[in-house]
Amino acid sequence: MKSAILKNGKVEIIQKEMPSLKDKKGAIIKVFGSGLCGSDIVKINHSKDVDESKVVLGHEIIGEIVDINTNIAGNGDKTPFRTGDIVGMGHHFPCYECKFCLHGSHSMCENFKKTNIFPSGFSEFVYITEGHLKNTVFRAPKNLSYEEFSYLEPLSCCLRAIRRSGLTRQKDNSSYNVLVLGLGSIGLIMAQGLIAYKAKVFGFDINEKRQEFAKKFNIEFDPSVKYDIIFMTSGSHKALDSAIKLVEAGGKIIVFSSISTLDGYKNDDIYYKELSIIGSYSPEPRDLAESSEFLEEKKVNVEGFSTVYPLDKINEAVYDTKQGKILKAYIKI
Ligand SMILES: [Zn+2]
Ligand SMILES: [Zn+2]
Repeated sequence: MKSAILKNGKVEIIQKEMPSLKDKKGAIIKVFGSGLCGSDIVKINHSKDVDESKVVLGHEIIGEIVDINTNIAGNGDKTPFRTGDIVGMGHHFPCYECKFCLHGSHSMCENFKKTNIFPSGFSEFVYITEGHLKNTVFRAPKNLSYEEFSYLEPLSCCLRAIRRSGLTRQKDNSSYNVLVLGLGSIGLIMAQGLIAYKAKVFGFDINEKRQEFAKKFNIEFDPSVKYDIIFMTSGSHKALDSAIKLVEAGGKIIVFSSISTLDGYKNDDIYYKELSIIGSYSPEPRDLAESSEFLEEKKVNVEGFSTVYPLDKINEAVYDTKQGKILKAYIKI
């Protein structure tokens, strides 16, 4: 089967042996497609610093179960998975028992880091474990296209970030002025998620086209507002500087993008304004469950966000994403 690997800083399509269940419990998924994540781009950009053979590209997967040898049901579901089920999935799940899990940092859990789909989302078939089926796999709602449901994992990352900011759906969040810095596909789904949480949501992007597009979702920028919570979805070096200038005293900055170095640690801004800087990385199963619900109910609408590329054109998709030519690439396998 065809599978994408990272080699000398480029994505290469190679032939690999098809995964099979043999004596392992779990399922084989025929992959329909996978979103190209910002974190895939980061992995490609930093290929020199890592062992390329260990890099797994593609995790925003949608596909069909073609083989299964367990009777397990999914997260919050009673009907066991069967062959023929069309599913979306996340790639890691926590143990729920270690210190990190008990402290709410599920994505720091050893089990979380160890678990992965095999070999990668940009492959014709993948193997997933029973643990994945139980925790991170969701049946695709009938009202969504495959491209739309491939946002299951990226949206769940955003919903986790929203939860880490302290907002909950049970409370009235209308007194919070919230800013999303960076209005790419992640910024737009973050902002829609925040609107569903009933916060007052604003957004900013230096790219005027993106700022204009965000108006469709009632997202605009008001420079006169001081923001109680700022979500940094932009990987720009200036993002933290801007966030610290725009944040209200006592406010929170959620770091949601990879910026390898920062120009200066803002100790006194953090101290005198009692700011909280909170990292948010990867989702746990309940975020995936909420994401599936938000997509199905169109609380977050991603219609038309994705540009589709065949697997053989994946380097073109990487290039177009880096150039900001497209909002989001979906690699059709
Ligand atoms: Zn992702
Ligand atoms: Zn754990």
